Amino acid sequence: MILVAEHKKPQHDLRAEKYLNPKKLYVPLAQHTGAQSVSCVKRGDVVKEGDLIAKKGGFVSADIHAPCGGKIVNIDRWFHPNLKRSPAIVIQCDGSKKEYSLRAGIKDLKKEKLLEIIANSGIVGLGGAAFPTHIKLSPPKPIDTLIINGCECEPYLATDYRLMMENLEEIFKGIEIISKLINPKEFIFAIEENKHEAVKKINLLINTKKFKLPKARSVILKSIYPQGGEKQLIYAALQRKVPSGKLPFDAGCLVHNVATAFAIYEAVYFDKPLIERLVCFCGDALVSPKNIWVKTGTLLSELFEAKILEFKTDPKKIVCGGPMMGVNLDCLDYPILKGSGGFLFLNRPVVDLRETPCIRCARCVDTCPMNLLPLEYAKLVKKEQYEFLADFHISDCIECGCCSYGCPAKIPIVQYIKIGKKYAPKNN
Ligand code: SF4
Ligand code: SF4
Repeated sequence: MILVAEHKKPQHDLRAEKYLNPKKLYVPLAQHTGAQSVSCVKRGDVVKEGDLIAKKGGFVSADIHAPCGGKIVNIDRWFHPNLKRSPAIVIQCDGSKKEYSLRAGIKDLKKEKLLEIIANSGIVGLGGAAFPTHIKLSPPKPIDTLIINGCECEPYLATDYRLMMENLEEIFKGIEIISKLINPKEFIFAIEENKHEAVKKINLLINTKKFKLPKARSVILKSIYPQGGEKQLIYAALQRKVPSGKLPFDAGCLVHNVATAFAIYEAVYFDKPLIERLVCFCGDALVSPKNIWVKTGTLLSELFEAKILEFKTDPKKIVCGGPMMGVNLDCLDYPILKGSGGFLFLNRPVVDLRETPCIRCARCVDTCPMNLLPLEYAKLVKKEQYEFLADFHISDCIECGCCSYGCPAKIPIVQYIKIGKKYAPKNN
């Protein structure tokens, strides 16, 4: 694990704004871990906000809903931050708005009904992995500890923090629902020490005992990277190790991000599917950073055309996500996905990133939070010896970027790891 410059100011202190009336949306069918969703609309159809437009494409998959009302004008391949190009449903928005009203009898909803609502709302983990939430909320083993993750350890990004500052009661209502579903003995709100104001608010709400929760406490963790990784978080909060190849439920834990808890609240209280999210736009190429609620499927270019965002100078680098785990974008035609927590627009001089030979300094080994041997991945992938990657537990890599960050030879180790994961034999 490493100490990285946070760059969280001024985003941390900027109240969330809204851009919820876009002109056109490009809604990708691949927005989550698992099978791509299957479109259930066709060109020419007219949809209302919240209508189902793509159904789950398999067991591990999620529904997709129309973020705005309008006409389906195309279904075709379009820019996708992670896949480069992928099928997307294009909606010409008509400016209509849906009013959401409070669901009756929320407290009396049975577990099965709550799970059904969440599964039908297209909610995925909003901490980055975008794993379908209804599956994560059905663990095959008993859970004794629920951990709510408010760490947001990626530099620059501030959306989880703003959500905790502005919508904490709603997040707690979401946590109540999660607790009802998994029935843990204890609930831990894990947050990094650099989020003082949110910590105060969290402790206040825990102490009011206003919410129906199991034994609850906050755990204030060091601001180091990647503190918010599930396995790192479980160890830091509970000193429990999740073994190689195992999942948090194997250690009796379930980890959910604060934004996911908020999405669960909206789905259960208002029958509102996951069609918008808070996104942090920052970096020194912008006139000013902003935290903005946007509809999923909104193109970055529309935010600039509408002058919601403005460039100070042409960006030399555009990143979807944070600087550690994000992916570089080559233009502004990319849509915002359910899992897009932030975008960076950087004006740094392009540094010399030419890779030089590994000097076997072991810095990548020292910083790897999963105790892996990152240098071996780069070596094996360069030689296309993919069959040996499993011997070095490549599937345990969380792609946090710590190894690349400190490599004096500027070896893009994570890029090699991503290639390696793609080509490593699946039965290993
Ligand atoms: S940090 Fe870079 S140079 Fe050092 S051992 Fe790892 S890959 Fe090699
Ligand atoms: S090998 Fe994977 S988990 Fe380890 S530092 Fe590199 S990216 Fe992170």
